[in-house]
Amino acid sequence: MLLANMTAIKPPEFLKALLEARSPSGYEHEVQAVVDKHLKPIADSYEKDAIGNRIATLNAKGSPTLMLAGHMDELGFIIRYIDEKGFLYFDTIGGHDLTIISGRRVSILTAKGEVLGVTGKRAVHLMSPEDRKKVPKIHELWIDIGAKDKKEAEKRVSIGDVAVYDHGYTQLTEKIAAARAFDNRSGCYVVCEVLRRLAKSKKKLATKVVSVATAQEEIGTRGAITSGYSVNPDIAIAVDVGHATDHPDCDKKKFGEFKLGGGPILCRGPNINPIVFKKLEDCAKALKIPYQIEAEARPTGTDARSIQMARAGVATALVSLPLRYMHTPSELMHLDDIEHAVQLLVRFAQSVKKGDNGAW
Ligand SMILES: [Zn+2]
Repeated sequence: MLLANMTAIKPPEFLKALLEARSPSGYEHEVQAVVDKHLKPIADSYEKDAIGNRIATLNAKGSPTLMLAGHMDELGFIIRYIDEKGFLYFDTIGGHDLTIISGRRVSILTAKGEVLGVTGKRAVHLMSPEDRKKVPKIHELWIDIGAKDKKEAEKRVSIGDVAVYDHGYTQLTEKIAAARAFDNRSGCYVVCEVLRRLAKSKKKLATKVVSVATAQEEIGTRGAITSGYSVNPDIAIAVDVGHATDHPDCDKKKFGEFKLGGGPILCRGPNINPIVFKKLEDCAKALKIPYQIEAEARPTGTDARSIQMARAGVATALVSLPLRYMHTPSELMHLDDIEHAVQLLVRFAQSVKKGDNGAW
């Protein structure tokens, strides 16, 4: 429920559609359809590839080439065994917290449509005191679709079908919202929306801009590896979520200080080209939007790590959107951070000049 006198700001329709689409790694059809609908009509050229990436180009004759990458996949489950009683056993897609899987509603995406289920586990009353302290192993959890036996379950679900948590978009306050897959539908929205705004803008672009909704990031940045090669960019910016540390039980001495509503997080470190970082910071200052700086000593756990190493190397940066409770069904975000990241990257793209290549 919203606080009294508070009117929720509606998220843009495109972002809402992305958040509602279900898209475990390798099964990104629903998000692909939303991206197709919103980007294909405005892009100068639009491509699909064999990994499932969506690649939209604007100003194809421009130079240098700027690639914006936001992954469209999310965590999920894949069904791998159905027992005699019709219970479904599964493996995880992406980095799940095993302590929170049980007791959830899930939707299984099958060729015949959605099948609803719940994740089951032995009730706490039936556990020994030692068992209560343990994190369940993945084979100790199952999905119950209410089937009477294996035969009935097999009519409805096939081995290799995937599932996601059945949690939708909810707004907690005027601008703070919860969703199942802000990681990374928010970043995917940013790179697509930047292309839409650049297409509408009257300002002339020097650079060729290629926005890529990348596939399979959560299982090893696989769409970024292939599209980083095919797009062959001079400069690239990955947009993903980053950990907000403004909640209990998050030691800032270990993780740094980042807050929801504090603006996009600009990363610094060996995965990041220093010239591109500086230009992003200059753009944020010129726009007078809030921003935060993150130090990352290693390759980041994002598409930036793969694009930076594509071909002969790419001047790469990372813009992260602050997020609480990453990889849970209830990720929280501040809607202003998303909009500020869009504005930042529109400005950045418009400020890239011929000859900029990040060499230093
Ligand atoms: Zn993730």
